[in-house]
Amino acid sequence: MNNWKKAVTFSYDDAVTQDIRLIELFNKYGVKGTFNLNSELLGKDGYLIREGVRVDHIKVAPEKVREIYTGHEIAVHTLNHRNLAQVTDDEEIVRQVEGDRENLSRLAGYEVVGMAYPGGGVNFTEHAAKLIEERTGVKYARTTVCSQSFDVQQDLYRFKPSVDHMNMDEMFEVGKKFLESKSQERQILYVWGHSYEFDIHNTWERFEEFLKLISGHDDIFYGTNREVLLGE
Ligand SMILES: [Zn+2]
Repeated sequence: MNNWKKAVTFSYDDAVTQDIRLIELFNKYGVKGTFNLNSELLGKDGYLIREGVRVDHIKVAPEKVREIYTGHEIAVHTLNHRNLAQVTDDEEIVRQVEGDRENLSRLAGYEVVGMAYPGGGVNFTEHAAKLIEERTGVKYARTTVCSQSFDVQQDLYRFKPSVDHMNMDEMFEVGKKFLESKSQERQILYVWGHSYEFDIHNTWERFEEFLKLISGHDDIFYGTNREVLLGE
């Protein structure tokens, strides 16, 4: 389906084991996502304290990557989650991105071309975006700056998601707006987050409600970031 007018895509970072439950939901509703992985952190144990709640932050094992993410897209998130806005050495920026891309391509069994910048707040610079465009095999890179918009973006190395799933009320609002949109231009609803965040306030069921709302529409293409942004 390449002649779509509306598309929905999801993007999830850090390759935590909660991705497995999320993918079950994605598959149940026939939607697709892109998962951004740090190849040097795969298999590591850990936890996070968020808003006073302890949640698992266990990274998927490298030998499980291909199986877990089958049917969805694997993409770059740097080798070890370096915030590229804080790296001053060009070679290190290229290594973090291209090294991760090569490792993940091996694990995935296909050439990985997508990316999400790691780190909150200011997590990319114009300089890093240019280096990635010119010196790596990455074809698009997502920031964490939400646009609240569905418009097609020309600048794929500074790509802005529509909405962050952490703000669920806003996500529903934006989702409903997307469903009602009668625009003649192409429209993309792009949702991003981390799957461990569903454990913080146990929002799994609410997210499933969102998937119920957004899925199963004949006039919407449900694809990975790569399929939606690059058409490949
Ligand atoms: Zn991350």
